[in-house]
Formats: sequence, C-alpha cells, structure tokens
Amino acid sequence: MTDTFNALQTAEEGDGFATRLVQRSLDDLPPGDVLIRVQWSSLNYKDALSASGNRGVTRNYPHTPGIDAAGVVVTDSTDTFAEGTPVLVTGYDLGMNTAGGYGEYIRVPAGWVLKLPGGLDARVAMLHGTAGLTAGLCVQALLDAGVTPADGEVLVTGATGGVGSFAVALLAHLGFQVVAGSGKAEAADWLTQLGATALIDREAMLAGASKPVLKPRWAGVVDTLGGEPLANAVKSTSYGGAVACCGLAASTDLPLTVFPFILRNVRLLGVDSVEQPLATKAAVWERLATDWRIPVLESLCAAETDLAGLVPWFDTILQGGVRGRVLVNLA
Ligand code: NDP
Repeated sequence: MTDTFNALQTAEEGDGFATRLVQRSLDDLPPGDVLIRVQWSSLNYKDALSASGNRGVTRNYPHTPGIDAAGVVVTDSTDTFAEGTPVLVTGYDLGMNTAGGYGEYIRVPAGWVLKLPGGLDARVAMLHGTAGLTAGLCVQALLDAGVTPADGEVLVTGATGGVGSFAVALLAHLGFQVVAGSGKAEAADWLTQLGATALIDREAMLAGASKPVLKPRWAGVVDTLGGEPLANAVKSTSYGGAVACCGLAASTDLPLTVFPFILRNVRLLGVDSVEQPLATKAAVWERLATDWRIPVLESLCAAETDLAGLVPWFDTILQGGVRGRVLVNLA
C-alpha cells in the first residue's frame, strides 16, 4: 500500500468546474472506520451532477465524486471486517460530501459497508451499483404492494437509463409483461433483448395530460422521471395498482389531482436507495445475487473505462444519452 493514490477531483476553475485525475494522499481522506481499496465503481446521474458542481449534491469542492464503490478492506478499526474482505458501499454520504468511489481508496463508517454477497464480484456488483439497488427496491415495493405478473402490464419510464434498464430486465426476469417507456426509438431492439414486451415513446407517455384520470393500463409502474410522465403513469394505473417513484430525470413536479388515489385506490410508493437501513440494502443485494440475478446482466454494460476516460461520460449522462451502465475500473 502506498501513501498516494489516483483519484478524480472536481474543482472550481474559472467560471465553472473541471474534473481531473490527481494524486491524493491517504491523509486527505476523511476520518472513518474502514479503509477500502476500491477496485470498481460506476456512473450514476448523481455522480455527473456532483462532477459538474451541483451544490444540491456536493456542498464543498475540491471533491472526489462516486456514490458507488466495490473493493477490498485494507483496515477496519471496528474489527467488523477482516483485511481483504470483499465489500461494497453505495449511497449514504459517499461521493456527495465524503470522497467517493472515483478514487483508489475510500475511508467510511463501518455502518455503510456491506460484505459482497456470495456470487457477486466487485465488477458485477458495480454493474448493478446504485442503479441496480434502486431498481431492486422499486421492484420490492411493487411486490410488497401485491402487484403480480397475473395483474397485467407494468410500465418502466426512462427505460434506457441505469435504473430503468435494470428495472426492465429484473421485472421481465420475474415474469412480468414489461412496457418500456423511452425517448430513444433506436434502443427498441436492445430493450426487447432485456425483456420488454412492448415499447411506448416519450410523446405517448404524455398524451392526455390535461385529464384527471386516463384509460387504466398499468398494474404497476417504476418511474425514474417525475413530472408529467409520472403524473400520466399514475392516471393510467389500473384499480388497486401501485407506482414506485424513484427519480426526477424529467422534473421534480407532480401535476396530479387526488382522483387516481381516491377513485382507483392507486398507491404511490416513494423509493430512496441512499439512506435505507443497511439491513434493507443487504436483503435486496442478497436477492440481486441469487434469485434476482438477471440473465442479461452483461447487456446492461454500456462501457468500461478507467478514471481518466470517465470524464466525457458526465455530459453524456446529463443529456440522457447513456444506455445502461458505465463501469469504472480502478483495479
Ligand atoms: P440515467 O441518466 O442513466 O437515466 C435517465 C433516463 O431518463 C435517460 O436515459 C432517459 O431515458 C430518460 N430521460 C432523461 N432526461 C429526460 C427528460 N428530460 N425527459 C424524459 N426522459 C428523460 O439516470 P439514472 O438511471 O442513474 O437515474 C434515473 C433517475 O433516478 C435520476 O433522476 C436519478 O437522480 C434517480 N435516482 C434515484 C435514486 C433513489 O435512491 N431514489 C437512486 C438512483 C437514481 P430514455 O431515453 O429511455 O427515456
């Protein structure tokens, strides 16, 4: 182990922010229980916000983004994890105001760290990352609400994104008829390969926006967009159906009346992957590693890159241009 290591660092430069590869020292890392040698990380929408100076995500710069990390334990002052234990960290404050997974080392509280479930290596864990965990939490929320494959079609919005594509593949794996809502017509074959049985484009997801309820179609919904697409999805949910709301890629607004809730008994389920208790995260990771292990996992990999090669991807994901997951190799 050396004292210095490679990391991406986002800093103010001129009128804006720039992200560069720098050398950091272990002494630069925040205090914490567990020092982890990061082997793989991944790209999420929130990482791109942090790397572009969004102070809603990261207050203080210079900063190393990366809300996901998988690697091995170097030291643990709590003696919870032996040296060399393969582990993963997603969410909590990692990559937000705590130096994140775009550095070869992180130091974090033991309460953020999960032993890698059997069957997942660090790369495959990061192919899932926060996106896979969030999709898993959404699917769990729909199942807990009683939605079953026999109830009919389920809709996934933002279907080519990290969370969306994972949700399409996972729901299909569990036997649901999945309709993929996407703005990318050219991704139709890929979404079908992931398991979507039908596609709906962005315009169609917005049709009838002025009405309080729409023709019922969805037994369940995983929504990553917010705004009018979410409102329309709620209005089109069948009697007793459920909608898992996890994202804001289109908008933070929710232009709805109460009618879908009081006339159709529709349930709107909030899903957060960041502050979930570690035990809840562990339960979903265990399922992702076993009965929820999706057969088309490798098809979700948009690209693998090293730290320096990651920088151009920040703009791409902010423009909604990533299909699946971008993996970062720090091994
Ligand atoms: P991605 O950028 O990978 O996916 C977002 C997708 O949404 C895009 O690929 C695109 O898919 C669609 N999209 C993007 N912009 C727009 C727009 N303006 N209008 C309509 N559709 C759009 O992001 P992630 O999958 O990482 O995250 C998705 C959302 O979920 C984000 O808002 C993120 O902040 C949130 N999130 C929340 C978490 C939680 O814990 N609640 C955890 C992880 C993410 P297409 O072209 O197919 O429509």
